[in-house]
Amino acid sequence: MAPILKKKVGIMMEHYVANNFVCPNCSSSTLKVIGNHSPSLDIICSECSKKIEVKSKCLSANKLPKDIRLPHGSYPDYINRLDNGLDLFVVIYGVDRIKKLIKIREVLHATNMHLRNPNIVEVIKRQESSTSNLSTIFIKDKDKLNLLQVPQKDKFIDFSDEITKFLEHSKGGEVTP
Ligand SMILES: [Zn+2]
Repeated sequence: MAPILKKKVGIMMEHYVANNFVCPNCSSSTLKVIGNHSPSLDIICSECSKKIEVKSKCLSANKLPKDIRLPHGSYPDYINRLDNGLDLFVVIYGVDRIKKLIKIREVLHATNMHLRNPNIVEVIKRQESSTSNLSTIFIKDKDKLNLLQVPQKDKFIDFSDEITKFLEHSKGGEVTP
């Protein structure tokens, strides 16, 4: 998928999580997308101020791997958020290119405890980024995280409008799958 489209899907997934799941801390339906590019923070609970980061990952293999690598921004920002009670939601999705649908495959919830357990999740500073502090969130075993129930009717997101808009903007430029 083209990077700009991937980014759009990332934002769609933040809204998807906020609209479909309750706060993991207080169980209220009060999750709100912040949308101001705060580093390592995408959603906040307006009831209890729980802070959540959302990562989305496109995986097409029939059987999902246990280990998942998520490119992440600033290492120090993440560590700082972690110390302030950050949780992580991971949305794993597949793409039907013909029907232009996104299928939600799994939604995983990593609690702050999971994120702090190096046997489950490790954050690695990326080698190539000695100056820019970029990192990778390495989930070693996704089966240790909480698997959230996704109602069948909410499993598909139509993104044909996004694709059409994108193709109009790129005007015949090559779209890498
Ligand atoms: Zn809450």
